[in-house]
Amino acid sequence: MSNAVSAVAARRVAAWHLCLGAAPIAIAAYYLLVHLGILPGTQVALYVSANAAFAGAALVVARRDRELRPIMLLLAASGLASVAADITFYFLALVDGEVAYPSIADVGYLAAYPLMAAGLLLIIRRRTPGWDGASAIDAAIVAVGVGYLVFEHIVAPTIQVTSGTFTQLVSAAYPVGDLMLIMVGARLILGAGPRSSALRLIGGYLGLVLFADTMYSIQSLAGTYHVANYLDAIWMTSGFLFAAAVLHPSAPKLIARSNAVTPDATTGRLVVLAVAAVTAPASLLIQHLGGRRPHVVVAAVVCIGLFLLVLARMAGLVRLQRLAAITDGLTGLRSRRYFEETLRHEVDRAARHGDPVGLLLLDIDHFKQVNDTYGHGGGDRVLIEVTHRLRALVRPGDLAARYGGEEFAVLLPGATPEETLEVADRIRRGIGGAPIAVSDGVLRAVTVSVGAAGVPALRDADELVLAADRALYAAKNAGRDRVASAA
Ligand code: GH3
Ligand code: MG
Ligand code: MG
Repeated sequence: MSNAVSAVAARRVAAWHLCLGAAPIAIAAYYLLVHLGILPGTQVALYVSANAAFAGAALVVARRDRELRPIMLLLAASGLASVAADITFYFLALVDGEVAYPSIADVGYLAAYPLMAAGLLLIIRRRTPGWDGASAIDAAIVAVGVGYLVFEHIVAPTIQVTSGTFTQLVSAAYPVGDLMLIMVGARLILGAGPRSSALRLIGGYLGLVLFADTMYSIQSLAGTYHVANYLDAIWMTSGFLFAAAVLHPSAPKLIARSNAVTPDATTGRLVVLAVAAVTAPASLLIQHLGGRRPHVVVAAVVCIGLFLLVLARMAGLVRLQRLAAITDGLTGLRSRRYFEETLRHEVDRAARHGDPVGLLLLDIDHFKQVNDTYGHGGGDRVLIEVTHRLRALVRPGDLAARYGGEEFAVLLPGATPEETLEVADRIRRGIGGAPIAVSDGVLRAVTVSVGAAGVPALRDADELVLAADRALYAAKNAGRDRVASAA
């Protein structure tokens, strides 16, 4: 079994190495034939080998890996669309001498974009739990910033120099397709999830393709593009890189679900966002100083969009910071500080209206023994499971918090002394009712002692806590696993 596994692993390593190794050979052979001006068919075959490797690799992985199959099929379709377009283009070129623009080959080239974007989107959906709004905003900032540059320097001039609405549309569709890849690529790279080698290789692929596409557009506009210039090497490299990415042993990690919903705001990320956010105004300024007439309306709309996106991102960060400040890291319960603030509020409000309030303090019995016997990790598992049970035992309007190391507090607004004691005993029985897994396969009975106090017997938050604490102490002294009341 392990031999089979390592054999498979070895084969995978060989496969992705092979793709990277094939790249320089195919590229060198291609340029050699171009330089010598011989064997046009072989030239085409060599050029197409890169995207064929890309599509073939995706198909191999689709066959092998059920989890990755839908993604790989979409990516393979994207690669095959490019291959079909290349072959059609060269076939037309060989038969007719010169290829009309747009041609049937453009259908394939353009179809490759949404197929690739759909495959990448599927990867993003699998990696990210929930709706990672922060990363979506980050990606939008990058896309809008870069999108403006693409519009100003490529789309607008392209539409100006081409004639005929259909031709203009096709010409504009390429940069729009690239923009789509920028957006999805930024979302993938900036989003939460493991940074595997496969992910980095896909990032490399996207970087090369976008660079080559952009240079192609610029050269076409300037009339400096000529067939088989250095851009072909970049496009070919990107195809082999993509093949290596999907064949890489870390490819299954592409869809490994991330633990964190939102990645940290690291310095690198902030630099990327800052650069993206200032591209539009900076470009506007440079054009103005250079005596050219920038598209003021588009630039203004882009700047407004960027401002709003940055503000939305900041609001999210502030909310996250605030949430972190009032949340306990281990259990996710509210912190002691938040609890005490809310308690004070609630006691004041209840005293004014003559409403009752219940307060419970819980302490796990003999918790030191758990730590001593099963280690700190075992103790933490008990704390987390006690939290799960506690959450399930309190009603939506009640507030449960981690009050100290292994002490919890529960606030019961509107609960009479009788109800408070009822809830206290329900919680005690609910937590102690079933043993808790302290390590894999090891169960241990865990009980809690509970001290209860409440308004109207007491009317001050500090007194309430003191009374509940004293009651808890009494419950411990009376033998633990029980509820004691202050009254
Ligand atoms: P008693 O029944 O009297 O409550 O006995 P006890 O052993 O539970 O005593 P006490 O309440 O004083 O125990 C507190 C212990 O909780 C000591 C400390 O090592 C442990 N503790 C506090 N915070 C944490 C934590 O975050 N994780 C773990 N694993 N242990 C903690
Ligand atoms: Mg304690
Ligand atoms: Mg204890």
